[in-house]
Amino acid sequence: MSEKYNIPRGTFDILPENSYKWQYVFRIFRELAAAYNYREIITPIFENSNLFERAVGDSTDIVEKEMYKFQDKKGRELALRPEGTAPVVRSYINNNLQNRENSSKLYYLGPMFRYDKPQKGRFRQFYQYGVENFGSKDPFIDAEVIALGYNFLKKLGLQNFVLEINSIGCSECSKDYDAALVEYFTKYTGDLCNDCKNRLKTKPKRILDCKIKRCKEIAENAPSQLDYLDESCRTDFEQVQDYLVKMNIPFLVNPKIVRGLDYYTKTAFEYLNNNLGAQNALGGGGRYDNLVEQMGGNPTPGIGFAGGFERLILSMETEGLDFGGSVKPFIYFITLGEKAELYAISLLEDLRNSGLSLEFDADKKSLKAQMKAADRSKAEFALILGDDELENNEITLKNMTTGKQQKIALDTTKEYLLNLKKKSS
Ligand SMILES: [Zn+2]
Ligand SMILES: [Zn+2]
Repeated sequence: MSEKYNIPRGTFDILPENSYKWQYVFRIFRELAAAYNYREIITPIFENSNLFERAVGDSTDIVEKEMYKFQDKKGRELALRPEGTAPVVRSYINNNLQNRENSSKLYYLGPMFRYDKPQKGRFRQFYQYGVENFGSKDPFIDAEVIALGYNFLKKLGLQNFVLEINSIGCSECSKDYDAALVEYFTKYTGDLCNDCKNRLKTKPKRILDCKIKRCKEIAENAPSQLDYLDESCRTDFEQVQDYLVKMNIPFLVNPKIVRGLDYYTKTAFEYLNNNLGAQNALGGGGRYDNLVEQMGGNPTPGIGFAGGFERLILSMETEGLDFGGSVKPFIYFITLGEKAELYAISLLEDLRNSGLSLEFDADKKSLKAQMKAADRSKAEFALILGDDELENNEITLKNMTTGKQQKIALDTTKEYLLNLKKKSS
């Protein structure tokens, strides 16, 4: 008996019947990012684990409970990246990107890893898209980044989502807010979960993010960050909203958005699909004006967002959206006879290299069997070449939708098909 190998828990295969959906969503994201003049950055799948401990925060769930940490053979402490911002910030600093042209507006897409409880729309290897913008404190940039994320979802055709924004203040005004939270939650210390009891001493804001029911109830009436913004944070937040209105981007202000990571400041935002239940965030992000400096770079403001492709695709399927059509051959090439087959093999190469997609079976099946295979392949056309036709310098072209057949001159096949392709696309 041979052993059966299973896929690791929390991972999944993207099968050929679905991979075109992923390619489509990747393509739309890349196109829109380019429209906003963002450029792709590709960083390693693993990093030194202290990068995430420092950037994301070593008391966050991501780092404490969910990170895939391992040692390599030299004993280096490494981690599969649990998120995309820290690696991009690391690269920004390492490569001195602030002094290079066109290197302050970056996007990425690729797999991330978290040892989390697998459930619908949540996996241990998951795919994220994200953008990071470095070097500007201008609220226009906040609005631009938010608009890019919003328009990405719109471009995919998604309808059932809302954009919610908040300001969580700069490090100055968030101190006042922290004090107000400590005062409020201390009254309920006995009722808070153990994690939140610790949070009360270290990161009181994180209590607002707790998933435990009783903590949530208590947090319901907690003071709002918006009441603790200083003058400059307040005007910046108002400006962000003004720009969004001018850009025609609908939004709600939700003072409950805190974002789970340590590095956020000021603007925070989320795109939420209300049909997905608990796992409803399609993406989100915020400003991180202190992160680059905290990571050893020159003081550089920044803002970005990230989101997961799994939930996007799930939402698109739920809304019955199109993924640009699955990949199928344009032509199925059928031959009868030895000479025809030999001729076909060189023509096939020529046609494929001129950009046409063709399927061909050299199995010498009957015409009927090959026609059936052409049908199954969903090709738009069939090319049929027999020894007789070869002698007459002819080839038959069959439209697989209408069933209509026509003969064309064999030596004009390539030209004819390229024209046909142009018309059909
Ligand atoms: Zn402030
Ligand atoms: Zn709690």
